[in-house]
Amino acid sequence: MFETLSRKPNDPLLALIGLFDADPRPDKIDLGVGVYRDEAGHSPIFRAVKAAEHLIYETQNTKSYVAPEGDQTFLDLLWSLVGGHTATIHASGVQTPGGSGALRLAADLIRGTGTGKIWLGQPSWPNHAGIFSGAGLPVETYPFFDVASQTILVDSMINALERAEPGDAVLLHACCHNPSGAVLTADDWCRITAMIAARGLTPLIDLAYQGFGAGLDEDVAALRSIISAVPEALIAVSCSKSFGLYRERTGAVFAVASLQSASETARSNLVAIARASYSMPPDHGAAIVKTILCSPELCRDWSEELESMRHRLLALRKSFADALAGRWSNAVAIGSQEGMFSILPLSQTEVLKLREKHGIYIPTSGRINVAGLKRNDVARVASAIKGAVSS
Ligand code: PMP
Repeated sequence: MFETLSRKPNDPLLALIGLFDADPRPDKIDLGVGVYRDEAGHSPIFRAVKAAEHLIYETQNTKSYVAPEGDQTFLDLLWSLVGGHTATIHASGVQTPGGSGALRLAADLIRGTGTGKIWLGQPSWPNHAGIFSGAGLPVETYPFFDVASQTILVDSMINALERAEPGDAVLLHACCHNPSGAVLTADDWCRITAMIAARGLTPLIDLAYQGFGAGLDEDVAALRSIISAVPEALIAVSCSKSFGLYRERTGAVFAVASLQSASETARSNLVAIARASYSMPPDHGAAIVKTILCSPELCRDWSEELESMRHRLLALRKSFADALAGRWSNAVAIGSQEGMFSILPLSQTEVLKLREKHGIYIPTSGRINVAGLKRNDVARVASAIKGAVSS
């Protein structure tokens, strides 16, 4: 059987990590990494997560399975954080292995309706295309961001979506767009929402960075207004970044509808898909999130720590944009983008030069993780980039 298979290439980002690890230079800098890093270069465990783990260790008395839909208290608390309290919206959730698991269940659900395609922005998180095509869903694209000018292409996006048909789904990043960091204005969101509603499209909103953009509530403001303007939506939530739970694989998918019966029917399908895929979700990360969100003290400590990470990113963005000024006319945009990522308009040759000459690791897409910078590295990285681009 295996002889019928051809070898798949390594994921380019994982391959870059391998090259970074093998580089002996002590001052090498990894800007390719996809996790939050602090000033010491660590991806920290939140204080509230450690405290919650202690409580779970003390009190948990079984490792028996959780239900295929997961823990309802976790789902209710997570939905309050994401959706707020809108009485006219019904949200039914399923706990998933990370945001990726949530996206895959959503993809399988859309595929099961037999009608829709999924529309992805260009560029988007590279794994989106893999997840949706892996579920057998036809993938279409809409222009989203121009790297050279660092601008969002809202008009082109809306024009492209004119070709979408009722029953198609449109993937949107709720905040902190990966990979561009680009921020849609309130007016952009209004135009996108109006066109989605008018054409009978279903938004699939990917929320992977709540709290890293403008704040916990601010980062879900657009999501909340879209779901109150359309009859149905799917929300894929990742707790990987917002709670620093990457390896615990924690997330949820919510079917949102103006009719309770519609959201419950959608959830029953999501549960059936989960049951047939991996049976039950992992528990530990969801138990941690539940413990934090149940406790006002832990919740305060968690949101304060998240807020300090957000401020660190904002300060790094500002000083990096200042240090790059003059290199690109639009370098200043990096300072007003949000979240961990931005894409620099670098050629493959420039990316290689930065790696070989300066030990600065950036994927060939030019996407950088701003959290991979330390305050003291900003000037060196900016001057290496300026040198690589001009020579
Ligand atoms: N969506 C986006 C935009 C992401 O960047 C990521 C993680 N890099 C995910 C979803 C999936 O996150 P998880 O690790 O929870 O599967």
